[in-house]
Amino acid sequence: MSSSENPILVLVDVDPAGDVASSTAALIGAASTIGRPVALIVGGSADAAEQAAQAGAAEIISEEGDAALLTVPIIDALQRAYEGVRPDAVLISNSIAGRDVAGRFAVRAKLALSVDAVGVSRDDEGIVAHHSVYGGAYLTDSAPTFGTPVITVRQGAIDARAERIDDAVFTGATGAFPVSGVAATAGTIDAVEQASSRPELRGAARVVSGGRGLASKEKFVLVEELADALGAAVGASRAAVDAGYIPQSHQVGQTGVSVSPQLYVALGISGAIQHRAGMQTSKTIVAINKDAEAPIFDVADFGIVGDLFTVVPQVIAALEARKK
Ligand code: FAD
Repeated sequence: MSSSENPILVLVDVDPAGDVASSTAALIGAASTIGRPVALIVGGSADAAEQAAQAGAAEIISEEGDAALLTVPIIDALQRAYEGVRPDAVLISNSIAGRDVAGRFAVRAKLALSVDAVGVSRDDEGIVAHHSVYGGAYLTDSAPTFGTPVITVRQGAIDARAERIDDAVFTGATGAFPVSGVAATAGTIDAVEQASSRPELRGAARVVSGGRGLASKEKFVLVEELADALGAAVGASRAAVDAGYIPQSHQVGQTGVSVSPQLYVALGISGAIQHRAGMQTSKTIVAINKDAEAPIFDVADFGIVGDLFTVVPQVIAALEARKK
């Protein structure tokens, strides 16, 4: 925890039920390393403020509203909070919605924007965002030449967690918020909930991904079986998506989702640079591939050279046996 009392404004992601999203603990954890975390919750449930306090926010600002909000009202709320708090940095989840809000807010408030940070720190001149680039081959830093940075933080990349602060300040709901008058992009939206017992890919602690090596949509079930045995989310390479084995929302990589789980298991994935770009910051990488020369082994912590249709059922059986 930084000794600095300088506020860091965190926009908390809220799920359709109004509860704070799983990304919150890491966002507030990151904020706590560079200042005093101030959480902004827009359209949260009655429990959301307490959930943010549990995650270590020193101050919680709640604005009422529909949890399935359009972007513009959230930006309005963010602007009000920014003007009230005058933070040293604004941290937002690097989710699709978070990137949308961050970009629009940075333009509106004329602030610098850093996207997809895997860490943040503070030096003599202010806040620095750290990024993993070129498929995870390099770490690079970004910082504004002046002013407050708006930083989107990659889900799963931050290990820091903040302690609950006993004297956290709750700034009560300000009531239904006025709309800025800036045109919204849509009149209404319907939340589409996908029923799945598996964790969401973004921010998952464990991910099992399958590639072209699975050979068919029917055989791709093996990826899901290993994921279920591990309690993991299911990912895929673009080749697997293009072949129709699994929907595009599961694609990991440069043009898909970036993940940073504790465990990433790659099955029948060669490890092209565009795939590695989305998973190389995973803490532990396990690869199963029948080609010993596959580039995925360059980034793997543990590798098995073999036919996945032979190896994976054995792994699942061993995992199930340990549960008994
Ligand atoms: P392959 O490269 O064909 O590899 C299949 C692997 O499976 C091989 O290594 C093979 O040895 C192994 N295998 C086969 N059978 C078995 C078996 N029975 N047991 C064990 N191993 C087996 N790709 C992404 O993944 N994500 C992206 O976001 C992405 N974005 C892209 C953006 C651009 C602009 C471009 C040009 C490409 C992008 N790609 C992306 C595509 C990328 O370049 C690769 O083509 C893709 O990742 C390959 O997927 P793959 O590893 O599943 O298939």
